[in-house]
Amino acid sequence: MIELDGAQGEGGGQILRTALTLSMITGQAFRLTNIRAKRPKPGLMRQHLAAVQASAQICGASLSQAETGSQTLTFTPGAIKGGDYSFAIGTAGSCTLVLQTILPALLYADVASTVKISGGTHNSMAPPVHFLQRAYGRVLEQMGASVEIVLKRFGFYPAGGGEVVATVEPCAQLKIIDLMQRGERRNGFAESFIAGVPAGVAIRELGVIGLGMGWEEPQLLHRGLPGEQGPGNALLVTLEHEHTTEVFAGFGEKAVRAETVARHLLQEVRGYLACGAAVGEHLADQLMLPMALAGGGRFTTSRLSQHALTNAEVISRFLPVSFDLQQGEHLSTCIVTGDGTAR
Ligand code: ATP
Repeated sequence: MIELDGAQGEGGGQILRTALTLSMITGQAFRLTNIRAKRPKPGLMRQHLAAVQASAQICGASLSQAETGSQTLTFTPGAIKGGDYSFAIGTAGSCTLVLQTILPALLYADVASTVKISGGTHNSMAPPVHFLQRAYGRVLEQMGASVEIVLKRFGFYPAGGGEVVATVEPCAQLKIIDLMQRGERRNGFAESFIAGVPAGVAIRELGVIGLGMGWEEPQLLHRGLPGEQGPGNALLVTLEHEHTTEVFAGFGEKAVRAETVARHLLQEVRGYLACGAAVGEHLADQLMLPMALAGGGRFTTSRLSQHALTNAEVISRFLPVSFDLQQGEHLSTCIVTGDGTAR
């Protein structure tokens, strides 16, 4: 039984999700205490519980203390089973974080899987579905995995109600990849998705991005959604380079001006472009787990976040892998070394 302290490092939900994924894949049981100890409302929230229940269903795990608010969890996995699954978060909790928990495990299933998840698809503090499709999905594809993610319906905070469907083919051995350079820019565009929000919001956001990036009309895409999928607004900037794709996100909020949302996002995009790194801060912490499963890989990023440092610690508890993390002022590097044995 692997004992984990949820208060370590970043002290949030990622510790739980990484433990669930690697417990399923390696067959090692874990006990996690102090779940989300560093968050204002510690313990399992709906989204975390949904990740626990989805993982348990996929591998026939036995569980104890799996309930909302619980600050301790014991998870004893069984064999991963592919097939058709459907999970509902029941709130606007992030579908993508639940999907990211189970997706790597389904690569190790006996047969292909289809997973439908309902909840929030575009939440602040979580990867938007477009990020999973274009940024994270491209990395998995480079590693040899065959995963398709389809966004059926948008779900914004607080209404939720979004839906995402993923199909995952088994892939027993992920390939080692090298993302030290991003390469030449191939494409760049901004999209403002709005549902039940005045069209002027999208026009103003795209105006700021257009001016800041020197982009013209064809790169500034106003994506109106049916009103019943809202209210909600997500502003995305996608940068496709030779070796990586990045998706940066900003979210409209009541009482926050459209220009402010766009300016913050612009700052993030400019920071990424200026540092020359292959991957942004979020993709960096999410890449570590698949690279560890592959048995190696390396990448450059702007800054290794607390999420990334904590993730490296949790991953090393489950897999025979080491992380060489070099934090630089403008550019940081992560080198993953392992033997690629997951079980
Ligand atoms: P809590 O910390 O409250 O437990 P949580 O379970 O939602 O919250 P975190 O531990 O904060 O999650 O992890 C959030 C994950 O979402 C991280 O992997 C982070 O990189 C990712 N993420 C956050 N914002 C974005 C974004 N804009 N684009 C891509 N990924 C994101």
